[in-house]
Amino acid sequence: MLKIKNIQTFYGNIQALKDVTIDIHEGEIVTLIGANGAGKSTTLMSICGITPPRAGEILLDGDPIQNLSPEKIVQRGIVQVPEGRRIFPDMTVVENLEMGAFLRNNKPQVQQDLNYVMTLFPILEKRRNQLGGTLSGGEQQMLAISRALMARPRVLLLDEPSLGLAPLIIKQIFEIIKQINKESNTTIFLVEQNANQALKLADRGYVMENGRITLVDSADSLLANDDVRKAYLGI
Ligand code: ATP
Repeated sequence: MLKIKNIQTFYGNIQALKDVTIDIHEGEIVTLIGANGAGKSTTLMSICGITPPRAGEILLDGDPIQNLSPEKIVQRGIVQVPEGRRIFPDMTVVENLEMGAFLRNNKPQVQQDLNYVMTLFPILEKRRNQLGGTLSGGEQQMLAISRALMARPRVLLLDEPSLGLAPLIIKQIFEIIKQINKESNTTIFLVEQNANQALKLADRGYVMENGRITLVDSADSLLANDDVRKAYLGI
């Protein structure tokens, strides 16, 4: 469904991605793990059109999308939950959610989706008129995921949803990611430093080091791989 083919992405003269190839099939949960600075966020930014690759291709259902604007890429169904949530702090929960649907015209369907995300995360219903900036870290992450869902993604890109959150909240968020994947057949591409949790959730995983993919396998095989265990699971 989403094919990233030999992409090279730069920041000025610095090459952050070196010949990265990733295949994501419809309905899968795929994770990309790696150390700080490996290039994981850059991979997501390249897919979203924020830092487009200088070479290589990104194909959605076989169509190249690497030259489309970020807005067009969202319209094609690829939506990112950025690292550090980046919700709108001075808008209420409901206003944040409505922003996620700003490219959609079908108001009844948007209202239906608003109700759906409130059932996924009931705490957002309770906080519906509270300003985004006053929410806890976990609630902000829930809001950021929900805001992305308001765009009706076919592929949801998640950048370190566990960052800075307590283990119990991480568990809850990861369970809901699984639920989103199952209930609406939303394909998930999850970037994580928390490799253990990410591999437990995912079907397949990619390992990235210094801007290159060094391993790809089923999540179960990666969890059992000695090199992965030493480098990323602290075992
Ligand atoms: P982290 O988990 O810390 O977010 P990451 O694996 O997501 O790390 P990236 O943020 O993609 O890694 O960074 C990849 C490389 O690109 C790093 O060497 C980083 O310093 C560099 N880089 C990232 N953003 C920029 C930027 N805006 N300008 C210049 N270099 C950048």
